[in-house]
Amino acid sequence: MAVGSAISSPLGPAACDKDAKALQFIEETTRNADLVQEKVLAEILARNANTEYLKRFNLNGATDRDTFKSKLPMITYEDLQPEIQRIANGDRSPILSAHPISEFLTSSGTSAGERKLMPTIQEELDRRQLLYSLLMPVMNLYVPGLDKGKGLYFLFVKSETKTPGGLLARPVLTSYYKSEHFKTRPYDPYNVYTSPNEAILCPDSFQSMYTQMLCGLIQRNQVLRLGAVFASGLLRAIRFLQLNWTQLVHDLKTGTLNPKITDLALKETMTRILKPDPEMSNFITKECSKENWEGILTRIWPNTKYLDVIVTGAMAQYIPTLDYYSGGLPLACTMYASSECYFGLNLNPMCKPSEVSYTIMPNMAYFEFLPHEPNSAGWTTRDSPPKLVDLVDVEVGKEYELVISTYAGLCRYRVGDILRVTGFHNSAPQFHFVRRKNVLLSIDSDKTDEAELQKAVENALQLLKEFNTSVVEYTSYADTKTIPGHYVIYWELLVKDSANSPSGEVLSQCCLAMEESLNSVYRQGRVADNSIGPLEIRVVKNGTFEELMDYAISRGASINQYKVPRCVNFTPIMELLDSRAVSTHFSPALPHWTPERKR
Ligand code: AMP
Repeated sequence: MAVGSAISSPLGPAACDKDAKALQFIEETTRNADLVQEKVLAEILARNANTEYLKRFNLNGATDRDTFKSKLPMITYEDLQPEIQRIANGDRSPILSAHPISEFLTSSGTSAGERKLMPTIQEELDRRQLLYSLLMPVMNLYVPGLDKGKGLYFLFVKSETKTPGGLLARPVLTSYYKSEHFKTRPYDPYNVYTSPNEAILCPDSFQSMYTQMLCGLIQRNQVLRLGAVFASGLLRAIRFLQLNWTQLVHDLKTGTLNPKITDLALKETMTRILKPDPEMSNFITKECSKENWEGILTRIWPNTKYLDVIVTGAMAQYIPTLDYYSGGLPLACTMYASSECYFGLNLNPMCKPSEVSYTIMPNMAYFEFLPHEPNSAGWTTRDSPPKLVDLVDVEVGKEYELVISTYAGLCRYRVGDILRVTGFHNSAPQFHFVRRKNVLLSIDSDKTDEAELQKAVENALQLLKEFNTSVVEYTSYADTKTIPGHYVIYWELLVKDSANSPSGEVLSQCCLAMEESLNSVYRQGRVADNSIGPLEIRVVKNGTFEELMDYAISRGASINQYKVPRCVNFTPIMELLDSRAVSTHFSPALPHWTPERKR
């Protein structure tokens, strides 16, 4: 029985005193959502009153909502580019934030092909830590006994660079895992990982994954939950096991470590953990050598109660594959966050993926909402901007774009996420993540928009010029049936001189040319993370796109307004396209990528 099951909270009986405090915090903060928001805005505006950015709008020391709303414009990353560039170049004056910028967080959202740089301040780490500290107390309400075992989480650091002015630039999770908050976290029986810090912090992704998997196998009977940040990450771990299990079972049998593990700190840690265990090795060999990997996760880790991975938004495409490998274990989506700001958590984490709603925590930043008409093109700068709605005033059933003002100095900044209100917890709204604006294709953390795809096609077209060949029409598809997933681009070609048509070799080079032109997050996924497979072109028969139009019209599309969809995922359309494919071509090499930014 849970130690403190007598400690009740409106969310349910807390598992221990620490949980009770966390649940009480959630209750108080959500009950007083509007007051908390008012206080957060006043704090942000007071501390940043003398920043160059706020002074520009003549707030004259005002910290109230009305003045803020009447004087500050809503902005995007592009609007802040000049300020961000100055900070990156070493200008330490208070431009956006009165507190010194401690580092840049590199978002998976891009601007001109490079990751966006989000300035952050030291104390934001505490705010992120606070949100993390609420996750297990909520989970313990639904899954008892998580203190009786461990979590096998595949967590990784990524490469970091320095800006010309000497500030670190790295992903938010890399920053968190390398912080003392994570490295020297106090022991918490409800939050014990099988992966040692040395494995998580190893910068070499093979060594990191290998040792995390090995530790997970060694402690297989203790594992109660399995996870990664995103669904794609957990599937990558399964793929890794498929490719490396023979070496892993060898290590388990002999108690010796794969010589490819060369990181000294990691080797030393693994020597302490790894002992010969022929019985375990035989068991894993038996399971992994079976042809059928259905339910492999529960066979190897039989005590797993749920998978802890984000499967909302673009990650929903992985649900069927995860179900296959896990035999249908519950999928828990616990939080909603970004490099700009951590937003909130799921108060009912064991619900079905389609029902996941995130409760935005009013203490994290000042939140506003731009009403979003699902079928409209959005407002243009010529219209007067629609009014932004406050956190507690959003309406159930409506869609909004999230706009934030943060302690680090972003003011009325459009995050680019579209959310739908599903209900309230006390006076804090809960949101279904609808989608990220303008994202056409996504496999892992990559986000490719229509303009980027268009540019990539144009880049590849250069190679077809000498063959007097053009692309009549194209569309795309994120194929996640393979692990890792990959982009598929359907091309209908117009070959004007059939005696000189482009060879298969040339079309493969076209795949690579497209990859070279995609953004750096895509190329990093291909090169460093191995999270995206080679891009594929499927050439379809002449007339296929006309058939596609006929099909759309037969289903009610207007002939006048018909536009070729630049991305497809509706099964009958995929079937039509695939049945007309005449050849397929894959990128023959990796595109260029280095951690250094172009600008
Ligand atoms: P980044 O700035 O690279 O950290 O990416 C943050 C973005 O990832 C968010 O703005 C969302 O678009 C997406 N994201 C984060 N958490 C979730 C979630 N729980 N469900 C769906 N999408 C998410």
